[in-house]
Amino acid sequence: MRKKIVAGNWKMNMDYEQGLSLFSEVVNMAHDEVTGKQHIVVCSPFIHLHSLVQLAKGNIKVSVGAQNAHQAESGAYTGETSAKMIHSTGAEYVILGHSERRQYFGETNELLAKKTDTALANGLKPIFCIGETLQERETNVHFDVIKTQLEEGVFHLSEEQFGQVVLAYEPVWAIGTGVTATSAQAQEIHVFIRKEIAKKYGQELADSTTILYGGSCNAKNAGDLFGQPDIDGGLIGGASLKSRDFIDIAKTFN
Ligand code: PEP
Repeated sequence: MRKKIVAGNWKMNMDYEQGLSLFSEVVNMAHDEVTGKQHIVVCSPFIHLHSLVQLAKGNIKVSVGAQNAHQAESGAYTGETSAKMIHSTGAEYVILGHSERRQYFGETNELLAKKTDTALANGLKPIFCIGETLQERETNVHFDVIKTQLEEGVFHLSEEQFGQVVLAYEPVWAIGTGVTATSAQAQEIHVFIRKEIAKKYGQELADSTTILYGGSCNAKNAGDLFGQPDIDGGLIGGASLKSRDFIDIAKTFN
């Protein structure tokens, strides 16, 4: 059985107190209401990480992650945060390759490959995001785009390293837009991704890789999406900012 994960991406939201309060609600609700084997990951801004890890202690259903990490181990990179620093807070995951980082910060597949290496070398599990823009889908190059993102971003990893990676298929046109991919569209891409993994690493590793869907996922559409055989959970943006909505999405797997 593949690991089922519902991961929240708070993006640049929540001041320190708001973040602690939201996370406390998530932890309590997860404790009381999440009855399946699904795992919850909350990816917060850096300022919250250490405190959230403390709040999650003793709750095996909830982990904490960051939303970015620098590719270098350490050094003169003013304003940046290293994977080692993130790991030292007790956080376990890091989102890499989110389309907002690709779009607004010019992160390329080549750079993301380096970030992935550094994250893994420092004990973090990458949640590696891939996905096409609307224009790429409309011009029918979406499969090529996703294949290239995989090949250049993560397919240089060893089998052992790749086994630590969670993938997230996030069509850019569905992120924060209220437009969700249909479950059939998402399933089609997840099957494609799994086939590419199988070609590179073999069927066994492909079958055990967790592939999340992200893009305007909410409590109403999560059942349909997560009901698809190759969709192993979600990366949730907007709906992760409300504990009730986020937990209701996670409860889809109960
Ligand atoms: C995201 O930012 O990863 C995301 C999926 O956002 P939203 O759920 O708001 O579309």
